[in-house]
Amino acid sequence: MDTSSFRQFLENTDLNGAEAKRRRLTLYFISYIGGTIMAVLTVQNIARGDHFLAFWLGLFSLLVFANAVLSHVFKNNSVFYYLAGGIVVIMIAVITFTGGYHNTGLHFVYPLIFIQIIVVRFRAAIAYVTVTVCVVSFIVYHQDSIPAIYRSEDVSRFLISLLCFIAVAFISEYFWHKSRKEMMTDNLEKLRQANSDPLTKVPNRRFLESVYFERAMQNPADYFPLSVVVVDIDYFKKINDNYGHDVGDRVLVKIATLMKNAIRSTDVVSRTGGEEFLILYPKTTLSVAMKLAEKIRVEIEKSPFEEGEIYHPITASFGVATALTDTNINASIKLADEHLYEAKGAGRNRVM
Ligand code: GH3
Ligand code: MG
Ligand code: MG
Repeated sequence: MDTSSFRQFLENTDLNGAEAKRRRLTLYFISYIGGTIMAVLTVQNIARGDHFLAFWLGLFSLLVFANAVLSHVFKNNSVFYYLAGGIVVIMIAVITFTGGYHNTGLHFVYPLIFIQIIVVRFRAAIAYVTVTVCVVSFIVYHQDSIPAIYRSEDVSRFLISLLCFIAVAFISEYFWHKSRKEMMTDNLEKLRQANSDPLTKVPNRRFLESVYFERAMQNPADYFPLSVVVVDIDYFKKINDNYGHDVGDRVLVKIATLMKNAIRSTDVVSRTGGEEFLILYPKTTLSVAMKLAEKIRVEIEKSPFEEGEIYHPITASFGVATALTDTNINASIKLADEHLYEAKGAGRNRVM
């Protein structure tokens, strides 16, 4: 697993999910509350005999409800956020054009334009708001051809206060996004540290248990058969005893790097103990995993540790097992461990 796939794995877990949820809940709440208010106003206007206003309010209420219901059905489709923004453009245009109840409609432009700013992403929001302001300005400055009647001093004050409102809303959104981004970067770095080994920089056991296996269980079709290979360096203690702990550390880094370079980007090398590693091969059968482990074994055997005066041949032993379904990952790791001890018992430097 390279650095970018490791990051992607960690990124997907946390704040991105929270942000998607925030946008989804915002859309639902605004749609259901806004749709209900408009439905009530529709009934009121029917009772008052203003069928024209009732028609538009009823239509928008239906559109808003339909959009929210469809976004429940097609959960991962962001088109409904953009549709919500589009519906709001038309609503604001109709309100401005007709004047609403006794030409008081412009008061509702503020909350509506705020919806555009929060339901879609920053750049899309700028586009929606720009279009809306252009449409509104065009309508209020062509009063001869619309049913609404606005006083000219109201029109200019309305547009100035609307622009102030938009500026304040965007400034707050901008800094909110900026601080969220900083938090995400910070959080990602903490996640990376918590999920990787500081010496060899490969993922650690915590990553496997709390991120990788969970993901595998959520998408079994992408992972199983999942082959696990337990790797243990042979007579590693001797290296420490002969050359010191620092050299031992550098040997670990060398072996980890060698294994990392020998796998596909979807495979994972992790450090699970002192001189013990676990390699995961998703969508790989036992016989293929055995061949891949053998390839790495030969590679390690062919790469002695050389540094100054030091020349030390290194070998490792391998235990392999395959989990066919998500229920037996732990059993497979245990089995691979047993195979590793058989390999050690049979003389080391071999794959079992
Ligand atoms: P075997 O072939 O049976 O695996 O023998 P071994 O010597 O490799 O196994 P043993 O478990 O006896 O020794 C493992 C050694 O690894 C002991 C420990 O001091 C050393 N070790 C564990 N973690 C680290 C580390 O982070 N750095 C260094 N340099 N040594 C470590
Ligand atoms: Mg060991
Ligand atoms: Mg060992």
